[in-house]
Parts: sequence; C-alpha cells; structure tokens
Amino acid sequence: MEPASDSNLSVPQRGMRKGSQLYLFSLPVEAERSEEAKEGIPQVWKGVSEKEWNDWRWQLRHRITTFEQLKEIIELTPEETEGIRHSKGRLALAVTPYFTSLMDPVNPNCPIRRQAIPRIEEIHLSKSEMVDPLSEDNHSPVPGLVHRYPDRVLLLVTDQCAVYCRYCTRRRLVGSSERSITQGNFEEVLKYLKTHRKVRDVLLSGGDPLLLENERLEEMLSRLRALPHIEILRIGTRVPVTLPQRITGGLVRMLKKYHPLMISIHFTHPKEITDQVRRACSELADGGFPLGSQTVLLKGINDKPYIMKKLVQELLKIRVRPYYIYQCDLVMGTEHFRTSVATGIQIVEKLRGHTTGYAVPTYVVDAPGGGGKIPLQPDYVVSKGRGKIVLRNYEGKVFEYPEPNIIEFKKARTGADEKAVPKKVMA
Ligand code: SF4
Repeated sequence: MEPASDSNLSVPQRGMRKGSQLYLFSLPVEAERSEEAKEGIPQVWKGVSEKEWNDWRWQLRHRITTFEQLKEIIELTPEETEGIRHSKGRLALAVTPYFTSLMDPVNPNCPIRRQAIPRIEEIHLSKSEMVDPLSEDNHSPVPGLVHRYPDRVLLLVTDQCAVYCRYCTRRRLVGSSERSITQGNFEEVLKYLKTHRKVRDVLLSGGDPLLLENERLEEMLSRLRALPHIEILRIGTRVPVTLPQRITGGLVRMLKKYHPLMISIHFTHPKEITDQVRRACSELADGGFPLGSQTVLLKGINDKPYIMKKLVQELLKIRVRPYYIYQCDLVMGTEHFRTSVATGIQIVEKLRGHTTGYAVPTYVVDAPGGGGKIPLQPDYVVSKGRGKIVLRNYEGKVFEYPEPNIIEFKKARTGADEKAVPKKVMA
C-alpha cells in the first residue's frame, strides 16, 4: 500500500473541484454559519439544504451503508468492492455524508477512504489476531461495564458510531444492533459502582456516547455524578470528527453541568481537521472541557513522522492536547493496518524536541490480554555509571548528569563520624 500522499494533507475548499466532484455551497451570510458550510458537498447531495446538511440527525439518517450508494460518489477499487461485499455480517459499513465528503473520490489511498471503506484484506486473518484483544469481556462484572484498573471503569453506553472505523478494537460489538445500554443494565452498573467505592473515574465510551440524545446522556451523567466517590467523568468520542454537526450549543450546555468532564477525541489524520471540526472543538473547549486526542497508528494512513507532526500541531491549534498514539490492537482482520512498534517509536523520536512538548502524545501498546497501556519511547539513556547517568538529547548530543550524593547525605543526617563518610562517592 502506498503511503498517504502530501495532497492528502489538504481539505477541499468551498466552490472548488476535487476529482470528479463539484463542491457546492457558497459562504452563508452569518459568521457562525460560514464556519459550518465551508466543506465541500458531493453532487449526490446537491438537493440537500444547508439546514439539513448541518443537522446531525439528518447526517445520521443518511449515512452511506451500501455499495450502491457509495459507488455513486467514489470510484471504488476491486479491493474495496470485495471488501464491502464481505463486510455483511462483520463490521458494518456506515459513513456520514459529511465524512464521505472528505474522501478523495479517485484516490484509493485517501486516508479518509482507508479508514472507513472496507477492503478485501479484512477477511485475511493472522494467527496473532483476536476477537477481544484487550480481554474486555473477561473484565466485565456487569454487561456494559469493564473494570480493569482499580480506580476507574469503562462504561459502554451504546454500540452505535457515526462511522465504523475499519480498525476498530471493538468491532466484535459495534454496529451490531445500534442500540444504547438498556435501562436494566444501567441500573446494574450503578448498583455495582455503589459497592465499589474505589472507583473514582468513569469513562463513557461505546460505540459513541455523543450519539445518544441529550436527555438519555444527561440521565446517565447525572446519576453517575450523584455517586459521591465518582470524582471525574470522561467521554471517549469520534463524533467531533465524523459528525461535527452533533456538537451543538444545547449539547454543550447540558454537558457543562457535569464538570469535571474530560473529552477524548479520536483523530487519525490532519485531513480530518476541517472548519466544521474547528468549530465543534472550539465549542467544546469554550465549554471548559479538557480535550485530548487519541490516535491509532495506521499503516499507510498516519505512520509517517511528517503526517503525525502535522496532526499534533493542528490539534494544538484547535485546543486539543495530543494525548495518546496507540499501537494498533491485534483485532481480527486488521493486519493490513498494523505498523511495527519501531515505527511508533521513531515517530515519537521525530516529535520530542522537534515540536512543542504539549504536542507530543504518549505512544502506548495496549497489552494483549488486558495488561493495560504500556508507554514506549525512544531510549535517551546512553549508559548508567556509579553516580552518573549519560543521556542523549533529541539532536543526538550526549550529556552527563550527576546523580545526587546519597551516601554522604545519609551519613550527615545520622550524625556519623565525618571520617567514615566516603570523601568521594561519585564515580
Ligand atoms: S468510533 Fe471508535 S468505537 Fe466507533 S468504530 Fe471507530 S474506533 Fe470503533
């Protein structure tokens, strides 16, 4: 697979042609609306009003879910055509019109296409792949709840997403029924949490929690917030990227009632950062939610240092702190997305010291079998000697750092004979 080209770093601007598409809408008069309508809209939706296009429910109702719909917009390759054919009964195909509008209709290496359109490689399974690579099901005391770490839990509130990412770790769950957690299961979750008072942090995920209607989401947040030992709430979402229309004033006003509430947004490529995404993140940041990004390292999509650098720098500009880069999990049918761990470490090497520290995420491998996140970074320690450590910096320059003189300090504190203290303990 060819890597994503430089041209994939740009997004279509209003009124310009890209491939065979004509991007339609002109700038609306109101400033707020002008932010929302800048992305190009493919011909197939030319009869759609701006009001409908900017309505998240319309976007959700009109997701592309079939080969016939997609081939009207994209010149599908044989690999994609076969992939779509075989996706039935596996991870569903579903892409919002908005996210489809970011796809390059003629370039199969377009990073947006690669993420969302099934390919024939998905039916090739490797020996190391698993149905549930993080062993979440084995750490689930109550349906919908994963309790793997002592002080925090993961709550899967829905199996629906706006777009189904082809590399999804939870492909065993998402998209199968497109339903939210039942009331009965949620009551069971609350009962469990009431008796596990060490839990101080609840991460709502799925599927995508922001696809729930405000009322349903608020009911969950308010009841979780009412538990005195729950200190923080978090939401993991890809909606600001795949369905930015969902980030409305009403949603932000509702969420603001449940601070401290952190939001982790799943970004993959700089091409995703459009004017609509900027607006969505701006509303969330203005709502006071600390925003962090989570990015899966994907072969041919974002596994080049210059692409990742562009992504993390663009994220800071929209007030999203790059948080994690994940090594791709060992999920069934995703071997074609996996890079080597060395590639991930090399990307961090090219970021650390070369750009703002805030822009450097932690690169992690989520240990297969449920061992949790293991951080990895380049080795900056050249050698360790008695009383000193030799380090290299981002430019490869070597520095010696003397360790504190521990032995001398201890003797001095205990009032020992000064003669007994080694004159020099440093090597
Ligand atoms: S948004 Fe998240 S949960 Fe949904 S398909 Fe993508 S990776 Fe999976």
